[in-house]
Amino acid sequence: MTAPRVVIVGAGFGGLSAARALRRADAEVLVIDRYNYHFFQPLLYQVASGLLDPAEIAHPVRSILRGQRNTDVRMDEVRGIDLHRQVVRCSTDIPYDYLIVAAGAVTNHFGNQDIAAHTMGLKGLSDALALRAHVLERFERATETTDERERRRLLTFVIAGAGPTGIEYAGALSELFVHLLPKDFPRLDFAPVRVVLIEGRNRVLETFHPRLGSMAAGVLRRRGVELVLGRTVTEADAAGITLDDGTRVDAATVIWTAGVCASPVGKQLTELPARFGRVPVRSTLQLPGHDEVQVIGDLAELEENGEPLPMLAPVAIQQGEHAAANVIAMSGGGAPTPFRYHDKGTMATVGRNYAVVQLGRIRVAGFVGWLMWLVVHLTYIISFRSKAVVLINWAWNYIFYDRPVRLITEVGPGRAAEQQTEEQR
Ligand SMILES: Cc1cc2nc3c(=O)[nH]c(=O)nc-3n(C[C@H](O)[C@H](O)[C@H](O)COP(=O)(O)OP(=O)(O)OC[C@H]3O[C@@H](n4cnc5c(N)ncnc54)[C@H](O)[C@@H]3O)c2cc1C
Repeated sequence: MTAPRVVIVGAGFGGLSAARALRRADAEVLVIDRYNYHFFQPLLYQVASGLLDPAEIAHPVRSILRGQRNTDVRMDEVRGIDLHRQVVRCSTDIPYDYLIVAAGAVTNHFGNQDIAAHTMGLKGLSDALALRAHVLERFERATETTDERERRRLLTFVIAGAGPTGIEYAGALSELFVHLLPKDFPRLDFAPVRVVLIEGRNRVLETFHPRLGSMAAGVLRRRGVELVLGRTVTEADAAGITLDDGTRVDAATVIWTAGVCASPVGKQLTELPARFGRVPVRSTLQLPGHDEVQVIGDLAELEENGEPLPMLAPVAIQQGEHAAANVIAMSGGGAPTPFRYHDKGTMATVGRNYAVVQLGRIRVAGFVGWLMWLVVHLTYIISFRSKAVVLINWAWNYIFYDRPVRLITEVGPGRAAEQQTEEQR
């Protein structure tokens, strides 16, 4: 009997953990991703704020999986999935016996094309590089202009969405603007510089305990971030944004971290998507009606205790391992088992010396939380070299208040543009 062919779509947290868990399986494994690298999304905001280089959080998928003799990697765009013919459509058709789909999520602009066109996302590496260049360039432009109003607009940075990504980036920007850029731009008046964090709900960090949210909000305010709670962005144009109460904020930079929705690949798998386009799966992670297909990570909608599992890396990693175990069981004639999520907690930092951590009933905020945040994030970074470089960069920044990668580099259209076209498809 020939070994079954297992195709994994996506080399993010879920896809990679599935591939690794299949390393000893009697199977022919193929991992497909549109990029040739896997990257650590939780530290993306540090690339976007000049602290880390992309190479410190991203690694070639081929190098991560090169020890696995049963696994091949293909850099290609998945354009369709034919569930009946059991074929993944890329530049050529790729047949499968078992399919694990881990295509993740994209930025959610809630169908507002103006917001998509006039805001910047923070979802991919090219987003982070584009954002870093854009933010630094606003300061270059601000030194040149003689128009006071335009200078204020150039120096206003709006972040829409106060979840973990929004608050982490707001904290990082405030540190960059308070401690570092005044040294680079000694002749520029920094008084007009604003970081405005807008959140539709009445508190930040909605998925955390309210007390942790209000503590994080207090720290952000003390660090100079303006919080606008209970307001949503309804319009965006080239000059700024308008809120639902009609308030106008003129800003040359609007960063959209207000939400994500499932990758458009999900549309190939179901005609009845759940909230945010996620694909409903059975408790075994299988696609209803197609036992050979499993959907995992951000793309999959699976409820536990009446709530959908969150879009978090540990969920994707655990589901990847589980999907691999199911494939091994099924190919040996056994039955797949239901998935149970082991909650490892959530954490977010608002910058130097302060993070909030929630581990079940245990809640930690402040310096101890920040140390926990550092250790956990360091542990998850792939390769000893990257761990060492990241640790050195963090220590350097901690001691000298320096974010060394303040480079304005040429960037392409960025993933934000790709995502816009994806949303329009
Ligand atoms: C800025 C940011 C910060 C975050 N911080 C945290 C955090 O601190 N803690 C936490 O737990 N979670 C965090 N998350 C969420 C976490 O990253 C996701 O939950 C996790 O990545 C989901 O894993 P996944 O495998 O489902 O998708 P992903 O890891 O996103 O992987 C999806 C992969 O599929 C590929 N792909 C998609 N479509 C196609 C296609 N058509 N063809 C080919 N390849 C395709 C993509 O290139 C990508 O490599 C953060 C997310 C972001 C954006």
